[in-house]
Amino acid sequence: MCIFCKIANKEIPSKVVYEDEDVLAFHDLNPQAPTHVLVVPKRHITGIGHAVPEDEIVLGRLLLAARRVAEETGIAESGFRTVINHGANAGQTVFHIHVHVLGGRPMAWPPG
Ligand code: 5GP
Ligand code: ZN
Repeated sequence: MCIFCKIANKEIPSKVVYEDEDVLAFHDLNPQAPTHVLVVPKRHITGIGHAVPEDEIVLGRLLLAARRVAEETGIAESGFRTVINHGANAGQTVFHIHVHVLGGRPMAWPPG
């Protein structure tokens, strides 16, 4: 079982921000901004590049959960960034789809 499946199953502890039937949001272990939360589906999807039409509802729920995370962590007003890395050039290191929710400081554009 992959590391984020284990976190979603509570086999590995995490600092949970939001949870529902389909989704878990928890603080990143190595935060890249004052607020850095990961939103994952409880059901394993390897990456955005492997999503299929049957994933439509859970993909929408990930983004709605990201919005809730932004509100509950107090970064919705000041602004926040959502990132989904896929594959080598994007720097994906965990192969269970996750939405990064980053905020609490200005974000550069273009991203690095
Ligand atoms: P990626 O580079 O795949 O887009 O992002 C993976 C993220 O997962 C990284 O930001 C990394 O810090 C985070 N991460 C990796 N392992 C763990 C873990 O065991 N717990 C938590 N909370 N975050 C993790
Ligand atoms: Zn997984």
